[in-house]
Amino acid sequence: MGFNRVCLGRFSSLFSSYLHPFVPVSLSSPTRSLPLPIHSFCHTTSVSAVQSQHPSTPHRSLPMKNSENRWKPMCLYYTQGKCTKMDDPIHLEKFNHDCSRDLQVDVANLNSMHSQELDYFLVLDLEGKIEILEFPVVMIDAKNMNVIDFFHRFVRPSGMSDQRINEYIEGKYGKFGVDRVWHDTAIPFKDVVPEFEAWLTQHQLWGEDLGGFLNRAAFVTCGNWDLKTKVPEQCKVSKIKLPSYFMEWINLKDVYLNFYKRRATGMMTMMKELRIPLSGSHHLGFDDAKNISRVLQHMLTDGAVLNITARKNPNHPEKTDFLLKDRIR
Ligand SMILES: [Zn+2]
Repeated sequence: MGFNRVCLGRFSSLFSSYLHPFVPVSLSSPTRSLPLPIHSFCHTTSVSAVQSQHPSTPHRSLPMKNSENRWKPMCLYYTQGKCTKMDDPIHLEKFNHDCSRDLQVDVANLNSMHSQELDYFLVLDLEGKIEILEFPVVMIDAKNMNVIDFFHRFVRPSGMSDQRINEYIEGKYGKFGVDRVWHDTAIPFKDVVPEFEAWLTQHQLWGEDLGGFLNRAAFVTCGNWDLKTKVPEQCKVSKIKLPSYFMEWINLKDVYLNFYKRRATGMMTMMKELRIPLSGSHHLGFDDAKNISRVLQHMLTDGAVLNITARKNPNHPEKTDFLLKDRIR
């Protein structure tokens, strides 16, 4: 979060895309999944509007050699454990059901990695300025950069009228064509937290009986906003206690500054400087988490060592200590 909104024309292909799994057959016609020219994919209205605002927006451009390795949008029902069409070949052809697909690691790059104190990085990138709308986490193995697992939920605001939510979601996710999956799946933040804790426990990253920070793992965020500001704010709105494991994190932008000695103000800048093509839609949380994961993988390949950069005082969570002297303010 915290960057200019960008909609990528290519992705809007997906207008029919993040369709409900029970999409009518006519919309799932195989002809729509052929590698059409980029503009053919676009939903005319939303893309023309967006392009007029962002005329120089760079598109990601992964090669589309054939239907097997062409880029596909993630099935956002699947990412939340709610896809009911895993036996439908047309659906599988159209949507990606393998989160690691865009995060493949070249084994040759492992030689240049330094050993890390942490075992796992949990790349987190929230969406939603008024309230959290999306909570995506990608779990990366710190030794070999492989994706171990992911956790993704769309989040339903708890302090807003239904009408306001509908407008908010139309404005935020309508342009990506994923407003329907949002409405089908979003749950309140107070219900996301226990599901996330069950996921953390399953991976032995945290235990309710242990409390405290994560176990040999850390959140990696692009900036301090997600965990310094937004999660504590959301906990207040949702009337729950701020979980202890949210109280420390790694701000990738500060690591970037200290490692490369260059300031990067956001994910797009880091990607541009590291020459990583954007994959998916900027400001679709799950895609952003994957793109930040690719920046992380690149930095690890370059030899960066990642440790906690910010920590809240458990007794005074409104206070945050920043552990690197040079940081982006
Ligand atoms: Zn699916």
